[in-house]
Amino acid sequence: MSNLILEIKDLHASVGDIPILKGVNLSIAPGEIHAIMGPNGSGKSTLSKIIAGHPAYSLLSGDILFFGESILKMEPDERARAGIFLAFQYPVEIPGVSNADFLRIAVNARRKFKELPELSPLEFFQLITEKINLVGMKESFLARNVNEGFSGGEKKRNEILQMALLDSSLSILDETDSGLDIDALRIIAQGINTLATRTNSIVLITHYQRLLDYIVPDYVHIMSQGKIVRTGDVSLAQNLEKHGYDWIKET
Ligand code: ADP
Ligand code: MG
Repeated sequence: MSNLILEIKDLHASVGDIPILKGVNLSIAPGEIHAIMGPNGSGKSTLSKIIAGHPAYSLLSGDILFFGESILKMEPDERARAGIFLAFQYPVEIPGVSNADFLRIAVNARRKFKELPELSPLEFFQLITEKINLVGMKESFLARNVNEGFSGGEKKRNEILQMALLDSSLSILDETDSGLDIDALRIIAQGINTLATRTNSIVLITHYQRLLDYIVPDYVHIMSQGKIVRTGDVSLAQNLEKHGYDWIKET
């Protein structure tokens, strides 16, 4: 078995006829935090959605391995149960479904995969009470429909709440920091740090270096025009903040 959680090999993908990913390579080991930065439209969200199995994208060539096995034939829900979590850049609202029910069903589906017994409503209530404190969310959000009428920041907290509950091996957070004020950013970053373990891995897609003041990644990748064009440590993000993306092109 591979000792990597995720391995992406020369991935090419398109939407319809438009090529978007043009040869992405990425390896992530347990215990690592990776940041992916890059200008708007460089393909960051596309990469995350393809890993999660979004049907809008066609894979032209390459492979995605999760714990050494190709996931290309797995449906999105299978990938999620197996331990791949994606926090969307634009979280969807699900009218008619309460947040608590949604989360309980998701948690129990994941537990079933791990061959753990389902949580009863009471056990789930105890678990979620602990986790909402981690993201600084009020209990009243559990009775509301999933993300319906939530502000941008509340939706982002709700995504991190899902992450906290699902205990996934790979969590990809797509611009979770955008739209957060500095206090919310701090709480969420603390929550994410608490959730980072030696056995899981986290991918932070972010536009801004400020998130990386709170969560220090092991690797920073810069994406441009559908490729990872540079990999370094956190100093790469700091240089980017100082000099802008043009600096990448020049050096
Ligand atoms: P990023 O997250 O880095 O800002 P995206 O992955 O969202 O970039 O987008 C990369 C490129 O792919 C953009 O030019 C975008 O317009 C295009 N793209 C992404 N998804 C679709 C789609 N469903 N239909 C058409 N174009 C898309
Ligand atoms: Mg994006």
